[in-house]
Amino acid sequence: MIRLKGIAAAPGIKTGLAYKIGREDFSIPKQSIKPEEIPLQIQLFEEALIQTRREIIDLQKRIASDLGQEEAEIFDAHLLVLEDRMLIEEVISRLKKDNLSVAFIFSEVLKKYIDVFSKIEDEYLKERIADINDVGRRILRNLLGKEQKKSLVDLKEKVVVVSHDLSPSDTAAMHKQSVCAFITDIGGKTSHTAIMAKALEIPAVVGTEQATQIIKSDDFLIVDGSMGIVIVNPDEETLEIYRQEELKLKGLSDKYLLDKDLPALTKDGKIVEIVANIEFPDEVPTVKLHGGLGIGLYRTEFFYMNRKDLPTEEEHFQAYKYVAQEMKPYPVIIRTLDLGGDKFLSQFEIPKEMQPFLGWRAIRFCFTKPDIFKLQLRAVLRASVFGKLKLMYPMISGIEELRQANNILEECKKELKEKRVAFDENIEVGAMVEVPSAALTADILAKEAHFFSIGTNDLIQYALAVDRTNEKVAYLYEPAHPAVLRMVKNVIDAAHQNNIWVGMCGEMASDETFILLLLGLGLDEFSMPSLAIPQIKHLIRSISMEEAKKIADEAMSLTSAKEVNAFMQRKLKEVKR
Ligand code: PEP
Ligand code: MG
Repeated sequence: MIRLKGIAAAPGIKTGLAYKIGREDFSIPKQSIKPEEIPLQIQLFEEALIQTRREIIDLQKRIASDLGQEEAEIFDAHLLVLEDRMLIEEVISRLKKDNLSVAFIFSEVLKKYIDVFSKIEDEYLKERIADINDVGRRILRNLLGKEQKKSLVDLKEKVVVVSHDLSPSDTAAMHKQSVCAFITDIGGKTSHTAIMAKALEIPAVVGTEQATQIIKSDDFLIVDGSMGIVIVNPDEETLEIYRQEELKLKGLSDKYLLDKDLPALTKDGKIVEIVANIEFPDEVPTVKLHGGLGIGLYRTEFFYMNRKDLPTEEEHFQAYKYVAQEMKPYPVIIRTLDLGGDKFLSQFEIPKEMQPFLGWRAIRFCFTKPDIFKLQLRAVLRASVFGKLKLMYPMISGIEELRQANNILEECKKELKEKRVAFDENIEVGAMVEVPSAALTADILAKEAHFFSIGTNDLIQYALAVDRTNEKVAYLYEPAHPAVLRMVKNVIDAAHQNNIWVGMCGEMASDETFILLLLGLGLDEFSMPSLAIPQIKHLIRSISMEEAKKIADEAMSLTSAKEVNAFMQRKLKEVKR
């Protein structure tokens, strides 16, 4: 029995057999095949080559039209790698001889090529390594993609996926597959992979650093996504302890569920809004099931994932219309495309950046792609007559960006008016406050926004210089840091002084530790994963505003995250008693 400690990314306890997914480097597990499987393996290889060729040609066409012919010709070298007879023949002859999977053999042959090229003292040939690397990865992805997708869908029993890393789109693709939990080597608590796991209600432990080295396929695992613990091949006694724990958790959540429809009303009569974060329209029933009275953050970028083309205006419109109608009369806040950071989309071929979270992301991306941005804005406007839709922009860093986005919105309104298309003329438009510069100029922004939503997932990483997806610095990722708390307070105060409301849609808004503090600071709306709603409503009903304000005052006078955490834990216990 081995116990691994990682980061608790999505709550719940599950047991199941390990199912390892190879990472996209060249260390593919050595897997034997039967001689009769060789023709199928050759066919898989050929299909992967054809698919890769198609992808490179598409990419070349796009680059030729966006940047010019010369830039597109760079990819000729990639196509040449695909046609390299020596490489292809070596793979096929080893496949016939060694009885190992084509993915493994191909990865071995690639490693050998890269090794040979890197030893040659010739600048031109050295440069070709990057091409081989790049094309090699593409081929492997296509090879593995096919094998994995097929096998995950075909599985009879639910498995625990074990992977070095999972991108948010990989996780989104687990949607309807046989996955009961997942574990990764890397990643942080507020990475979009973790957020997606919560949305899909799949318990997850990330940042274990060594899961893929320690766990073998078909090991029996306990995944405790609430505590961030994985137990490999547990003994009967441990298994029984976790079975009991699972029942306890279930009992607790059932208890909270009973009261899910009671309002989030403090003992002295203040109502706060408890709403949900969603990534897909089909989460709406789950929101209702957990007593969510509205949607405070609809992350629309997942709409673009796991597809080859871009969603049309009509597709956007239908999705927003559905959510608006289903949630009516409650509000639905649609956040415009927040691409970049840890969310990449193959359709845009965004170049790899050194610091993607500081780079071409969210509203910055939308400003350089006005067609894509306007298409989404028009769809939201058109859908706004079917319910109570609101709009908000991600990553606003200052007033100029807010104005620029609003100007583009005005253009869309004008276009719709000219075409006599109906929309809600009074649609509320807010700014996410998730960049420190916005938090510190909230008084300026508040004069031109209808509301704020504090995005603590990003605000914390930018304020404390801690990558939210990096397990190595996860211990520094502290919502309780006085710098974060002061920014949050500043935003709430600035909003109220300017008579606008302020919500929070980062994960901090569903962390029990901070609810009393945020309530005391005057936060008007808490937006969170649906699963957390009943419990947080229950907590808010256990305290008065007067008590919460006292707690907030005292917490704000403390000098370190450690002190704040200890103080808040103590208060939480007292209130729950
Ligand atoms: C945030 O940053 O807190 C937020 C809600 O947005 P996202 O997690 O999608 O970056
Ligand atoms: Mg964010």
